[in-house]
Amino acid sequence: RNIKNPISAARLVMEESRHVLMVGPEADAFISGVGGASVGQNYFLKSGDNFSDVPLPADLQIEPPDDRSPPELAAFSGVWKGQWNGVLNQVLAVERITPAGAEVVDGLGTHPEWGFVFGTWTRLPARFEDGTLSYRFLNGEEQIFSYTHKGEGTIEAFYENRTTGYSTKTMLKRVPEKKASGDHGTVGAVALDRCGDLAAGTSTGGYGSKTPGRVGDSPIIGAGTYADNGTAAVSATGHGEYFIRFAVAHEVTAMMRYKGVSVEEAATRLIKYELPKTGLSGGIIALDRDGNLSMPFNTVGMVRGGIGDDLPLFVEVY
Ligand code: ASP
Repeated sequence: RNIKNPISAARLVMEESRHVLMVGPEADAFISGVGGASVGQNYFLKSGDNFSDVPLPADLQIEPPDDRSPPELAAFSGVWKGQWNGVLNQVLAVERITPAGAEVVDGLGTHPEWGFVFGTWTRLPARFEDGTLSYRFLNGEEQIFSYTHKGEGTIEAFYENRTTGYSTKTMLKRVPEKKASGDHGTVGAVALDRCGDLAAGTSTGGYGSKTPGRVGDSPIIGAGTYADNGTAAVSATGHGEYFIRFAVAHEVTAMMRYKGVSVEEAATRLIKYELPKTGLSGGIIALDRDGNLSMPFNTVGMVRGGIGDDLPLFVEVY
């Protein structure tokens, strides 16, 4: 939770301990104890946000309002975001304008300083009356959320708990639609130095809306990251659970070692042909001991690039 640079921290584990993998608060303490950089939770928030993102559900579909909807109602269409009392993130996605009001998706998430970030989503019908869009939650208590326009790109949100009598207000701002499925931020690197040493590193925040405590493939040696001077260095991105189950990064090097195939053949065969049958989606970057690079993926795109003595810098997406 506090390590600033995970790959530098992994190197400190390698050089300053007898271990390979450390997790949890003791790992944070160990890293700061041996001089690794530590930061507070706010460091991980995106610039421009004073709270963490609640990723939108992957099946979110904002339908543009048609001409029959009153303009004051149509203006709610889209995604809005704000924060209650500085701790609870609110996202309101108005998916569809209906004759009575709208169909909305309500999302809540906690501030990271409060333990962990999560997103909960509820699809609800909302009513439009006297310029106010509102919906009701009944979960033992009766809670009403209402929204009123306050000028371009801003709505006022009002929360009222009719069971306890508590109420509060906040402002929501219009934000671009950004779905959870795009909410990956993994960065991987593979390198070969002049002494013939291969190295791989992978750094990730995992993916949005995961269960707290979940560990992905990136730090697991052999799953999302692996390097072996005799064969190749491999770093993976994609649905980590599959990379762990099939020990994908190691599998690439095992095919090279035991079948004698090239890095290109091993990597492509696994990522494009064999593993998609299991449900695995993602890609890898793999570099062999002769500097041959293979970067197959079975997703729409994977941002990737390379540079070397005989390889001018290049960047590709699709
Ligand atoms: N592989 C990462 C994980 O599952 C996520 C990603 O690459 O986007 O944690």
